[in-house]
Order: sequence, then structure tokens, then C-alpha cells
Amino acid sequence: MSGKNLVKSVIDASNYIFNRKLVSGKAGNVSARFKDHEMDIVAITPTGISLADVNQENVVLVDLNGNYLSRGQPSSELFLHLEIYKNRPDVMGIVHTHSPYATGFSFSDKKIRRLEGFGEIKKHYLEELEYQKPGSRELAQETAAKMIDEDVIILKNHGVVASGINVKEAASLAEFVEEIAKTQFVSHILNIK
Ligand SMILES: [Zn+2]
Repeated sequence: MSGKNLVKSVIDASNYIFNRKLVSGKAGNVSARFKDHEMDIVAITPTGISLADVNQENVVLVDLNGNYLSRGQPSSELFLHLEIYKNRPDVMGIVHTHSPYATGFSFSDKKIRRLEGFGEIKKHYLEELEYQKPGSRELAQETAAKMIDEDVIILKNHGVVASGINVKEAASLAEFVEEIAKTQFVSHILNIK
């Protein structure tokens, strides 16, 4: 993958999750990484811009330490993305959403069940991370620590972080989590006697 394709993959995934209503307004952020020789380059969505309006001019390039390789202002969750990449050499794409059903669960005492599609089910529920302030180093480090063993995590009172072997897979996983949260919500309501 070239740098240009990397940026395009971030734009496509950003538009996709916006169009699928996994984010609204200026919420959410998306990144992808590629290796240029031995160097990791991360393309990430900018701060303060809707994921519907992400384009070639405003995607920001950084290295794994957060040094800017292009102009622009990256997402306030930059370090959340970078810490996950540092811990997981296999992860090449990350999306963070506030998708309504999954986020609704995060504000409740109910957990989202794992369904088929996550591979072999060893744990019954998606892992959750206790609330940390959005944009904080604590959120970045604790999320990355939990994601050593998980491809997706629910941030309490906040939203969802999903990762994948590329950013398209990460977006699909975020969409799948929203789908199962919705199904679980509906079945819960229907089962109330
Ligand atoms: Zn957020």
C-alpha cells in the first residue's frame, strides 16, 4: 500500500461509517497505518471535521510517536490510535465510533454479547473499559492494554473502538458490533413480559 492509498482507505472508511450512521456530527475518528521500509506511517482523520468531509487535504500523517509528517491537526484521540498500533503489530486500521446502540449499552449496566462472527466464543461478552476522559493519555494507554487480547472494546459511557488487519475490516467490525447491540436491545424489549 502506498501513502496515497493509505489516505484513501481512511477517507473511504470515514465516509462509510458516517453513511452507515455509526457516527454523526463531528464525532468519531479513523486511522490506518502502513510500513514504509522500517518506519510506521499513520494516516488519521483531522479534529473538528465531520467524517463525511474527510478528504486528501485534511487527513493528517504522523509517525508512531505522534510527530507530524504533514500539515493539519489530528483527531484528539490520536494517542489512543498510536498506543494500539504500538501494542499490536498486526493491527493496520482502527475506528472509534459513538454508534447509538453500542454506546447506549456503554451507559447501562448491560453488556453486549459476543455472537458468531467473532470466531470461537471464549468470553460471553465484549470487554469494557471503565470510563476515562476522552482524549486523555489514560484512555489511550488503558484501551491499548485491553486491546492486546481484543479486536474491539466498549468504552464505558463513551463508545466503541474496533481494529482490524486494515481500516475497512475495522469499520466492518464496528458496524457488526452496532448490529448485535441493536439485535440484543430489540430481543430484550420483546422478551419483557
Ligand atoms: Zn469518542
